[in-house]
Amino acid sequence: MEKLVILGGGESGVGTALLARERGYQVFVSDKGKIKDNYKKVLIYNEIEWEEGAHSELKILDADVVMKSPGIPNKVHLVKKIREKGIPVISEIEFAAKFTKANIVGITGSNGKTTTASLTHHILKQELQVGLAGNIGDSFAKQVLDENYPNYVLEISSFQLDDIIKFKPHIAIITNITPDHLDRYDYQFENYIKSKFRIAENQTKEDYLIYDADDEVLVNHLKNSPVQSTLLPFSLEKKIENGAYLDNDNIKIIIDNKQINMPTKNLTLEGKHNIKNAMAASTVAHLLNIRKQTIRESLANFQGVEHRLEHVLKINKVNYINDSKATNVNATYYALESMDAPTVWIVGGVDKGNNYEELFQFVNEKVKAIICLGVDNEKLMKTFEGMVDVLVETQYMSEAVKIAYKVADMGDNVLLSPACASFDLFENYEDRGRQFKNAVRNL
Ligand code: ADP
Repeated sequence: MEKLVILGGGESGVGTALLARERGYQVFVSDKGKIKDNYKKVLIYNEIEWEEGAHSELKILDADVVMKSPGIPNKVHLVKKIREKGIPVISEIEFAAKFTKANIVGITGSNGKTTTASLTHHILKQELQVGLAGNIGDSFAKQVLDENYPNYVLEISSFQLDDIIKFKPHIAIITNITPDHLDRYDYQFENYIKSKFRIAENQTKEDYLIYDADDEVLVNHLKNSPVQSTLLPFSLEKKIENGAYLDNDNIKIIIDNKQINMPTKNLTLEGKHNIKNAMAASTVAHLLNIRKQTIRESLANFQGVEHRLEHVLKINKVNYINDSKATNVNATYYALESMDAPTVWIVGGVDKGNNYEELFQFVNEKVKAIICLGVDNEKLMKTFEGMVDVLVETQYMSEAVKIAYKVADMGDNVLLSPACASFDLFENYEDRGRQFKNAVRNL
């Protein structure tokens, strides 16, 4: 019996454990922290061996193969030891993909993964049996075991890609690459870029790589390190021969002379970034022969994903918008860009070494007030001093929303788009978004 050790008893760990057991592995799940009760129950019910609060090193180093949860960094001592012993370390997508012949659409990038994956799934599911997994919902491994769909749309982080060996999506998307998570990549942007591109490393010319041709980082990397995949770029700025582009406010997708058109005004999602996401998703749908009418209708009725430029309420003709998932400057850039009215902007949290300069043009044009919401707001206060009429700080969401309510006039927007992580004041970005929505509803 092959011995599989799983490090991390979360969604991907427990999913992998179930699939592996079914496929005849001897499984041991080890988590240095606490395993959540619902996962523990599953492990116990399925008689899978597990431990929490520590790693039994001897037992782990006896494994034939180790599945490491994406949250565990490589620099952890135990992981180093496992590698030194020559035991293969793989990620959940690598493991689960071995047990399915499904057609895989893999989506990675710094921003827009969840939106693009959800939108792609939304279009494909109209005509195909398709699962949505990866960083969303039930783990890929669990779905391979329980559902065995013939198609999957997977949202894939760079951490999952770090530990692949043979994983090969038939269609890959890289939405964009901007600096993020550099603490896991020795603070080398290049390492992070390489990690994202691993999504294409096992592809051949029968497979497709869809990517943002306006993103210089992506384009330069492709130039210097070409891939085997058939390239299908998308662009808002230039005409594309094979791929997607914008022609007078019409999205055009052309693949081998087959064409589809869609006016951008019919898209439910707002903002330029969402035109890009729609291009990427429709290119996938087009490749998989979804009917043009279905693609158009799906783009026109997609409701978006919570915490991503989510419209909360209109109070006294002021629009309240929750973009709590904007945890970096690039995401906030697109949020501010898409604002079509004077905006009261709530920003702040844990700064990951942000450079706010690229936001200045929008702040000058559109932002009338800035409300800094973090434990330490000094950098923000200094950066935006003198740029707006109102610049205040607070440590409470309820207060931030009350100030916004006072400052906003009829027709304005109130936008929560923090450009920072949430851990100083909130449990996570979902908690931050929910607190924002509750505070708005309580006005
Ligand atoms: P991810 O899953 O990669 O974190 P999300 O779809 O959850 O991406 O979106 C994260 C944030 O980035 C949100 O604030 C969203 O509005 C913004 N965003 C979405 N798509 C893009 C894109 N293509 N480029 C830049 N920002 C984007």
